[in-house]
Amino acid sequence: MNKSFLVFLDAGHGALDAKGNYVTAPSKQFQHTQGVFHKGSWFYEGVWDRTLTNRVASKLAQLGIDHLIVSHEYLDTPLAYRVDMANWYAKRASKSLYISNHANASGANARGFEVYTTPGKTGSDAVAELHYNNVKELLGNRITMRPDNSDGDSDREANFYVIRKTVMPAFLVEHLFFDNFEDAKLLMDDEIVDYFAEAQVRTIIQYMES
Ligand SMILES: [Zn+2]
Repeated sequence: MNKSFLVFLDAGHGALDAKGNYVTAPSKQFQHTQGVFHKGSWFYEGVWDRTLTNRVASKLAQLGIDHLIVSHEYLDTPLAYRVDMANWYAKRASKSLYISNHANASGANARGFEVYTTPGKTGSDAVAELHYNNVKELLGNRITMRPDNSDGDSDREANFYVIRKTVMPAFLVEHLFFDNFEDAKLLMDDEIVDYFAEAQVRTIIQYMES
């Protein structure tokens, strides 16, 4: 391996196994009463997280940007394993970035897009801000943006395991709320998925060049 820039992509949770069973926590799914989603009425967050992550990986491959998907194709592998993988390979790269892809659920019909870093000022804040702005530029007229401007930047702060334990700059993205029908419909739109992926690739390139 050459010492180079390396992006770690983490699709949250698990997805569907060969028998079509959703192999992750029941809270990571929602059954809609209208519309067409995965397997009919169900929205499976882990399936969507992989759809987006694979789209990002495909764009990075076209651009020749080194990346590693640290999540499994469908298993809900331990977060510690995903982090360990990233931290191990990061030692062999000159610069790296970790991005965890999710969609949200509120149980209260919330809508919108959020980016998270760990609390306090870290090396992750600037890249998270870049990403917030790239999504706003590409999709701001079609989705609800949910910034937290209380500390001078747009990202929200939470001690999610994968962004706390990774040694490189890291952010976690909550792409809309899959238990809201309007947001879930947007998530099933391939064009929206492509815009989310494109924003992520632009963030990666801006960070790589910084
Ligand atoms: Zn999630």
